This record gives sequence, C-alpha cells and structure tokens, in this order.
Amino acid sequence: MDNQVEEIKHKLDIVNVISKYLPLKKRGRHFLANCPFHGEKTPSFMVSPELQIFKCFGCGKAGDIYTFIQEYEKIDFREALEEMAKLAGVTLTQSAQLSQSESHKKKLIEINNEVAKFYHYVLTSHPLGKQALDYVLNRGISMETIKLFKIGYSPSRNDSLVHQLQKKAFAPKDLISTGTFGQSNYGNRLYDRFQGRLIFPLFDYRDRILGFSGRILPFTENQNSAKYINSPETEIYHKGFMVYGLNLAKEFIKKEDSVLVVEGEFDMISPYQLGVKNIVALKGTAFTQEQLQLLSRYTQNLVLALDSDFAGNNAAKKSIELAENLGMEIKVLTLGKDFKDPDEAVKDDPDYFKDRLNHLVPIWDYLIQSSVANYGTDTIAGKKNIMSMVLPFLAKIENAVIRSDYLRELAAQLGTTEDALKQEAARYQSGAVPTPQIDQTSRLSESLKQWSQSNSATQKLEESVLTLLFGTRDPLAVFSKLKDQLNQITLPMYQSILEVLSSQSEFDPKTFADLLPPELQTIFQNIYLNAISLDITSERRAQELHKKLIQMEESHLKSQLKELSQKIAQNEENQSIDSLEKEYNLVLQKLSKLQHLQK
Ligand SMILES: [Zn+2]
Repeated sequence: MDNQVEEIKHKLDIVNVISKYLPLKKRGRHFLANCPFHGEKTPSFMVSPELQIFKCFGCGKAGDIYTFIQEYEKIDFREALEEMAKLAGVTLTQSAQLSQSESHKKKLIEINNEVAKFYHYVLTSHPLGKQALDYVLNRGISMETIKLFKIGYSPSRNDSLVHQLQKKAFAPKDLISTGTFGQSNYGNRLYDRFQGRLIFPLFDYRDRILGFSGRILPFTENQNSAKYINSPETEIYHKGFMVYGLNLAKEFIKKEDSVLVVEGEFDMISPYQLGVKNIVALKGTAFTQEQLQLLSRYTQNLVLALDSDFAGNNAAKKSIELAENLGMEIKVLTLGKDFKDPDEAVKDDPDYFKDRLNHLVPIWDYLIQSSVANYGTDTIAGKKNIMSMVLPFLAKIENAVIRSDYLRELAAQLGTTEDALKQEAARYQSGAVPTPQIDQTSRLSESLKQWSQSNSATQKLEESVLTLLFGTRDPLAVFSKLKDQLNQITLPMYQSILEVLSSQSEFDPKTFADLLPPELQTIFQNIYLNAISLDITSERRAQELHKKLIQMEESHLKSQLKELSQKIAQNEENQSIDSLEKEYNLVLQKLSKLQHLQK
C-alpha cells in the first residue's frame, strides 16, 4: 500500500486508540466520554467506530485519529503520524506520499482519459460517429476546435467501450465509480450512461478529465430524456467545483484580466473559436463559492453572459453577493432580445457579438435597467417590486459615492427622491429587512432567504428530517419509500446529500461520507452522529419522521399560500385573478386536509 497515512488508519481502530487516553462507554452504535478538550460533567464527546471519527458536541472539536492525537498531545501531524505508525507496527517510508484515496482518484482519471479517447475517436474517425460529426460541423464548430476540446460521441447500443476497458484490466467497480457506467440488473452487465449523446469531457483547470457532459442530438433515440446529462457526483467530479473551459482559458483570463462567464458548453466553445478566449462556462445558472474562488485566482473582473431571459438574470443576481464578498467587479454582457445565448449570437452575427464586448454594463446599472424593464414604473406595485429587488443590492455597495450615484439613478427612474431611497436602503443595510418581498416570479428572494437562513426554522426542520432518516436501519430503503416527501427539502446542502444518497445502491456511512464533496462531509457527519446518538425505538423514529415530513409539507403549502395572496393583492385589476384564486383555494384545501390528518 503506497499510502501509509491511510494504511495506518486502516490498521487502527479509533475506539482502541482513544481508549488509551480516555475511558469510553459504549452506547448503542457509538461511544461516549467526558470531553478532554473542554471541562464538562455530562459526556458530550462521541466516538463513532462506523465513521472512524470523534466529535464533541460541547466544544465542536472533531476529526480522525490523527486529529485526536495532535490535539490531545499538542503535537504536529508528522509526529502524530509517527506515533500512530508505531502503534500500528508500520515502518514509515519517506516515499509514502500518495494517499490511498489519491491513488484511487488517479485511477478514475486514467479511466476517464481512456473513455474520452474512445468517444473522440468515434466522433472524428468512425462511421458510427459520422452523423454526430456532421451535426457539430454544421453548427460551425471546426475540426480543430473539436480536437482542442476533445469532443466525442458515445454510440448507441454498443459494447465496445466497456470491452476495451475491461481488456485493459480496469475493474468493473472502478468503471462504475467514474459515474460513466451503470450496471444492469440482469447479468451485471455494464452499460454506458451517455450513449447516443455528444460528449464534452469536463476538464478541471489542471487539464484532468473529471467527468463528462452528454448532449442529446436530433437523432438520439430517446428524445424525451434531458437535453444534457452530466456525470453524477463522484470521488473526483463535483459539479459545484467545475468551471468548464478553464484549462484552455486560464492563460487568456490572466492576460486580459477578465473572464467572460457563460452557461453551456457551446456558449463557451463558439466564442473561444471566434477568438474570445478568456471565457468559461458554469454548466448551470449560478455560481458556487468554489467556482468563484477558482476564478479569482486569475482575475477579479467577471463579465456575466448567463442568459437573455429572466431566469438568466436571476442567476446573475444570485451570484453577485458571493462575488462581491470576494471583492470581484462584475459587469454584464447584454445581447439583446434577438439572441438567446452567446452561441447563437456568435453564429448569426460574430461582429455584433464582439462589439457587445465593448459595451459591457456595470452590474448595478444592469440590475436597475432589467428590473425596470421587468416590472415597469407606471404602477405602484411595479415600483415597489423594483425597489425591493434592487435596493438590497445597492445598499450593500461599500463605496458611499458610488452607492449614492446609483440611488440617485434609481430615484430618477422611480420618480422619487434620493433621500427617500436612502432611508429605505438604510433599512436593508441595518439588516432590518433581510429578505426582499417580491412576487413569486422572482427566485431571487428565495436564494437570498437561503443565504440568511442558516439558523432558521426551516433548516432545523429539514435537519431533523435528515437526522431521523439517517438514523434508520436502512436509510436508502426509507428514502425510496418517502422520495416524494423528501424531495420537498429546500436547502441546497441537504438536497445535495439526498441526491448523492439516491445515486447509491447500498448505504454504508463511511463510503457515503467519502463520496460527498468536502463541505458536505462535515454536515453529513454531524447529522449522522446526531442520528445514531438519538436514543429512541425504531417505531418512535418512524413516527417522528412521519410527523416532521407532514410539518414540512405544511410549511411548504403555507409559503405557497403566502405567495399567492401577495400575488392576488398586487394584481387586483388583472384578469388572471380568477385563476390565482382558484389556485389559492386548491392549496388551502390541501393544507386543511393535511392539518386534519395530524389530529
Ligand atoms: Zn469538547
């Protein structure tokens, strides 16, 4: 085993190790002790043999055997490693560098390279890929570009890729771990998830293929499936970390000191081919913190070209706060209503596209313009919506002169005074109005809510649902039984955990934790430790879970009602009021049925 850190960890049991320092008492599936790191009389220090970690619910200290020894003996990692090596009877070698999980990741990347090579070969050189190649060339993508991006095609109903990989002695379980292959229920045969699709290998900024994105083609057999499918979350691929095209664009981003951010693969590739090379695609509509951090290594100047429709506008807005926090400058590339995305604009009118790059709009102007266009300034409701949409953002501009400029501009648009807006803005600054109240068509309020919601009732409720779920003997079985209700979970972190759970065929807490992206691992570990320390019968647990799910449904319906009543209030002269009221009554009926059920 080339990784001794993992090898040692594997040989030692955390319960035995910590027992040498503390008396541990067994309690169900875990062990308890008084915490050695903070004074306490009732034990809140927990050790989990399943996850091989410890956690103190009093002071928050947590980690594996190495963390424990480091903390307990106040030594550094190397010393802790040496001590544990002795205990495990392992002689440390200098060359022990690559951890076991690192070498497994390397293997997955190796497989991805082989897979990408195969797809690319089929697209560019094999009769099976001819139709797909014609499609791409017809879209104006050149052969040179196809090669640069290693675009490929996965042929339908064709086993040669799997055979080839197995001939190269890749184990089926590794092939499955890449996310590219599924296993059929009959005969354990592996099948390619991407078949019939055009393939974009997803390179990270270091040029490693971490996953794939498969686009449906006009002649793909199952036209009802999603336009794009992506690799699921794996040990190496995390959607929230992926910035498509960064491997090719990063030098240009540095040179130009700005990055153009678009949504999809073709939106990135077409401008790149045109010569606009400081460009990346998000593969989604909103930034994650990780994506922004990655980009901020190369530039502080973001140019967003996320979509010309309203959903795209929202994505732009959602990303503003995150980017602002990193001190980034944001501008917007507007393409007008004639083009639905950069790919189309480049194809139809490349000169126009290039020209628009010289007319970027600062994000604040863009926000004001787009919300004015969206709500109109001729009704009070419209003005109100504009204010509640724009003010929270303007209020956060740190530079007082710039802030004042934009408040003046907004005031002029709304026909009010700068002073009046200043007062309003101050309310947002002091945090008195954390969430703008705007109608349901805007998802902005939702995303804002989520940011400020870390301790809200929703989070508590959803966390307790997950805690109860993961405390059951077979969380996967319970999940599939209660899927519909569990899908009402709203917080992205919990959604992601459930998403990964749903992609599993069996549940093992340790394997599952390893599969999660780092920021979710801690969240899951906490939930799991809470889950197993909850001392209740399985019957009681099922009852509790049922109760919480109903509460979730109830709060879901209540917020629907609230939104509908706001809509009705704002649309009094509108003819759509009847259908709104109908919808309102429908939701109300559901709610009272639900409440009746609880009695
Ligand atoms: Zn403690």
